[in-house]
Amino acid sequence: MEINNIWNTFLKKVQNNLAPMLYEAWFAETKLISLNDNKATILVPMDIHKKHLKENYITLIETIFNEITGSNFIFEFLTEEDIEKRKNQEIFINNDEEKNSFKSNLNPKYTFENFVVGDSNKFAKMTALAVAEKPGIMYNPLFIYSNSGLGKTHLMHAIGNYIVKNSNKKVLYVTSEQFVNDFIELYRKNKDNNNFEEVEKFKRKYRDVDVLMIDDIQYLEIANKTQQEFFNTFNELHTNNKQIIISSDRSPDDLKQLEERLRTRFTWGLMVDIMPPNYELRLSIIDKKIEGHSLNTDFPKEVKEYIASHCTNDIRKLEGAITRVVAYATMMGCTDITLDLAAEALKDYIGNCNISKNNIEHVQQIVANNYNITVEDLKGRRRVSSIAVPRQIAMYICRTVYNEPLTKIGLHFGGKDHTTVIHSVEKIKKELKNNTNLAKEINRIIKKLK
Ligand code: ADP
Ligand code: MG
Repeated sequence: MEINNIWNTFLKKVQNNLAPMLYEAWFAETKLISLNDNKATILVPMDIHKKHLKENYITLIETIFNEITGSNFIFEFLTEEDIEKRKNQEIFINNDEEKNSFKSNLNPKYTFENFVVGDSNKFAKMTALAVAEKPGIMYNPLFIYSNSGLGKTHLMHAIGNYIVKNSNKKVLYVTSEQFVNDFIELYRKNKDNNNFEEVEKFKRKYRDVDVLMIDDIQYLEIANKTQQEFFNTFNELHTNNKQIIISSDRSPDDLKQLEERLRTRFTWGLMVDIMPPNYELRLSIIDKKIEGHSLNTDFPKEVKEYIASHCTNDIRKLEGAITRVVAYATMMGCTDITLDLAAEALKDYIGNCNISKNNIEHVQQIVANNYNITVEDLKGRRRVSSIAVPRQIAMYICRTVYNEPLTKIGLHFGGKDHTTVIHSVEKIKKELKNNTNLAKEINRIIKKLK
């Protein structure tokens, strides 16, 4: 997308999220002037905008912008005056820059410390750390894959930041799009095959490093010529024991458009996948992200649970939900964040959050919340009625509302036999005939589910 389009799309979304007066005051006259590596530069009319946008809107800006672009940008706000000043300075800086500072493109925001671990990403984090400690030695290449928004980019930057901090190795992070663009640019400049300087520059950039990270390799699928070049780059680095780290939205087997020889190479080292986070992990991530907002009001448990049970498959969306709630509270001048406020703030957003694709998990979460027990309790075998009854209700809802197969329900409830499921469902059905309170209770739960 062209940058003007990106910014227009962005502004429209901001407009939907802000009171008109605030939008007019802080956003209407802003403009995106450049997007480089991981930095977005925004032109603002006055100095006061720089401070105010940074202090009050940065999370909203990041969430919406990153949602549109699919990458994580750091923001810089400049006035016309700043740009003028910088132009004058650049004449001095430019000469030194190339020699002294090597650009890693790393985002310092992403570290191992703020990567929250659960069952679904434990292995990925462990191997990432192992690679960070001994680049080029342990697993080469390291191939990380998962659906979008589950932490691949975060882990890659964490590896890079760790290596840069603990050694003097040269690390380069790029998206595969960037690699393709650089290569196309080189191709254009080197049409007659005699632009050795440009070729050398390209090679130095990608081969003269100790660690090369290519994010979202799937975009290489559509660039045949670039695949060959990447093949050469890969071989040279690998032969010299330089670490290569690749991420993708699919496993190498499923990158069907990629040359076979590349796919095979991707399997030489170690492949790790990241699965969607379970409810507990989502809650821990929410806690971690709230720390980052340095709120001066309490973020109640029920609001965290509400977000955790509705945003299930994408951590980026989860973060977006938190930002929205916080932004909404600030905008409305609310001193307390309540469940009602959160529901209002998220009413249009949550539809996009992929409300649990897995109905059974969704039912379990809502039922567990309703009775103040954990999902683990529901999956367990304890027979005290405070747990056994909610367990039967949850199975009943899975069966009668969502029509889930008996064996599948059994499996999700800790590997129980389908006869146990039948028994539970029947028990609730029978009970419902005489117990109107229970009927009301279950109806309430079903309403929450929807
Ligand atoms: P991907 O590259 O897989 O699409 P990202 O690495 O960009 O996903 O992650 C999306 C967002 O979710 C980022 O802001 C990232 O910090 C956050 N995130 C993902 N996994 C975790 C985690 N385990 N702990 C904390 N934040 C996470
Ligand atoms: Mg990513």
